[in-house]
Amino acid sequence: MPARAEERSAVIDLEAIRHNVRHLAAVASPAKIMAVVKADAYGHGAVQVARAALGAGASWLGTAHISEALALRAAGIEAPLLAWLHTPDSNFAAAVAAGIDIGCSGWELDRIVAAAREQERPARIHLKVDTGLGRNGATLDAWDSLVGEAMEYQDQGLLRVVGIFSHLAVADEPERPETDEQLAAFRQILAVAQDAGVDPEVRHLANTPATLSRPDTHFDLVRVGLGLYGLSPFEGQSPAELGLRPAMTVRTVVSHCKDVPAGQGVSYGLNYRTDGVSTLGLIPLGYADGVPRIATGGPVRVEGVNYPVVGRIAMDQMVIDLGPRNVTAGGPSILGAEAVLFGDGADGGPTADDWARAAGTNNYEIVTRISPRVPRRYINEEPSTGEERP
Ligand SMILES: *Cc1c(COP(=O)(O)O)cnc(C)c1O
Repeated sequence: MPARAEERSAVIDLEAIRHNVRHLAAVASPAKIMAVVKADAYGHGAVQVARAALGAGASWLGTAHISEALALRAAGIEAPLLAWLHTPDSNFAAAVAAGIDIGCSGWELDRIVAAAREQERPARIHLKVDTGLGRNGATLDAWDSLVGEAMEYQDQGLLRVVGIFSHLAVADEPERPETDEQLAAFRQILAVAQDAGVDPEVRHLANTPATLSRPDTHFDLVRVGLGLYGLSPFEGQSPAELGLRPAMTVRTVVSHCKDVPAGQGVSYGLNYRTDGVSTLGLIPLGYADGVPRIATGGPVRVEGVNYPVVGRIAMDQMVIDLGPRNVTAGGPSILGAEAVLFGDGADGGPTADDWARAAGTNNYEIVTRISPRVPRRYINEEPSTGEERP
């Protein structure tokens, strides 16, 4: 924590990030780690997380967009870096010039080659196959010809097929059979590629849940996002049970505390009314800060107690009901006290999973949507001396 508490911040513990990288690296070994830092590292700050992850043993970085990858290069980060989600307007030339690896599902190939010609530098590509997710990736039917075309260009020195990859659909539900089907399809397309003479440096399939639950999906490289941030991809399994430490704490300072009569309506719509005489605390975070408007009931911890948010969450603020405190007559006010929305969950503190439940979403969305209005603050930026290594 900064010495003087700020009004609001998302505190990012870079030691937790490093711990999670070391843990995931041990789990995935001998496969290498790609730290997925798309969407500003799921809201944690892409440049800071990328540096911490690389320092702790990640060998690759991954983003969705080329523009996200270019921002990492602009910050001076030179590690292998893959971007996989493009449009015909994506800047392939800039990616080639910056040595960014480009995911290729098929249509991108001609544009990537044009960029390589323009830059007079071979492109680095990872061929993507759709083994069942139904999003990006070549269909199994198109795979043969995509591999053939890519190899022709490789023979001409216009590109290098650095990787072959696919993405899993249900790895967060380990009992489902589709992961086996995707894995079998992936093995099949690898064999086809090998027969065509492709010799990729990295074959990669696993996301965080597969890294943790399916060693048979690790291949040469695992692409971990959620686990890097210390969150659990599995329903009913906590980060601690997986050896992970949540890295983000969202906290603020209580901005008003007052006594109200019985039946006091709270926030727009007056959907909540106090049962009896009570005391309300005002929390200065709302949906403009990324707290989902639908998440009434989500917990806010003040002075060691988790209070559910009552009434509608507004753009800038939300309310907790403390029960009668009679602050008017000198009862304990919480004005100025620290209020934590979620953090590492230690000592029963609230978690991103609690807010995900309250909002009917997952923990990915809770951390990722914390808005730029909440300043990110970094702690433990430098590894302490004598820090344990796996
Ligand atoms: C986001 C993403 C990942 C990371 O998934 P997690 O479940 O957060 O580990 C991996 N691969 C691809 C292609 C992705 O889009």
